Amino acid sequence: MNDLPAAGGCAHLECTRCGATYPAETLQRLSPCCERPLYPRYDLEAIGKRLRREDLAGRSADLWRYAELLPVRDPAHAVRLGEGWTPLVDTPRLADALGVAQCWVKDEGQNPTASFKARGLCLAVSRAVELGVRSVALPSAGNAGSATAAYAAAAGIEAHIVVPRDTPFPILEEMRALGADVELLDGLITDCGARVAVGAREHGWFDLSTLKEPYRVEGKKTMGYEVAEQLGWTLPDVIVYPTGGGTGLVGMWKAFDEMERLGWIGSARPRMISVQAAGCAPIVRAWERGDEHAEPWEGAHTYASGLRVPRAVGDFLILDAIRASGGAAVAVDDDEMKRWTPVVGRLTGIFAAPEGAATAAAIAPLLRTGVVKPTDSVVLFNTGSGLKYVGQA
Ligand SMILES: *Cc1c(COP(=O)(O)O)cnc(C)c1O
Repeated sequence: MNDLPAAGGCAHLECTRCGATYPAETLQRLSPCCERPLYPRYDLEAIGKRLRREDLAGRSADLWRYAELLPVRDPAHAVRLGEGWTPLVDTPRLADALGVAQCWVKDEGQNPTASFKARGLCLAVSRAVELGVRSVALPSAGNAGSATAAYAAAAGIEAHIVVPRDTPFPILEEMRALGADVELLDGLITDCGARVAVGAREHGWFDLSTLKEPYRVEGKKTMGYEVAEQLGWTLPDVIVYPTGGGTGLVGMWKAFDEMERLGWIGSARPRMISVQAAGCAPIVRAWERGDEHAEPWEGAHTYASGLRVPRAVGDFLILDAIRASGGAAVAVDDDEMKRWTPVVGRLTGIFAAPEGAATAAAIAPLLRTGVVKPTDSVVLFNTGSGLKYVGQA
């Protein structure tokens, strides 16, 4: 992978609430106007004129194949470990078992550090380095922490990860082996967030919490580009996404919009399905009530740690995408995830994370309510490898 990606860079950042714009060449976090996520915006008309979708064909087998649509300006700042361009596995026997016409599994467990957190943190770290950051910090209960540790190590900068004391031992060991400064706290991820905020003030750590800086979403949006490219520039009828902070779901929604403006796809969209754990389902509750925002979930519990997110900063963006696409939000309990893990494994050859198994478990209730039809083509997101959860269920 010594083939450098193309030069990229966005035109400006835009508040997802009110549309106010901010320069992209200084470090930004939430929008100063509304305290909401900022989205990078590109000059898509100009990019569309010089980049055709066919031009991508011979490019590197990682997410940097979409470099013109990514915020990193200087290709030398791209921190690369082989992230993205994961296989979209056609799984006909799983399709039969689920009762749908066609099913693919996007196997994100094949990313560096064995989860799709690599995509977002690759971009966040690369861009932070480009803007002069030398130490990053993150509150995490798992996969985001190891991905941060890996990209910080690859970039040669410091990573401070604050985790609850009960974080699974293999993940602690992974983060330490990747050179991160790991701090254990008695408390929840929210307490870890408060500790990171103090470290940011006292030591100048740059906080990479999801959607609180503008670039993780850009890494996650590449899943949308990949699904389209891997399906020959078509999209499936349905995308099923296990949702914590929802960065991947809103990222793919952003990617579809960008691809349409580039002239790469038409206006048809998949129905976007958000799957959460029954023990922590703030988006499902808000979707059922028709609310614009999701109330924080009290007493969150599930062994699918990626779904243990009681409050999502981008809740309104997730709910917008689900509604605009004619999708739905469904909750699946831990027993169903455990039941589906070996079914997915036996029928596909993929050892799924509980979050991935949850997407398969969600199909039966979706067929019952008619949101998914037996004639549909479906993409399930297996967001991580089952190996990271061994011994936890
Ligand atoms: C973080 C995580 C999720 C949730 O991702 P979001 O984009 O924050 O919704 C799902 N699965 C796994 C394995 C994760 O690590």
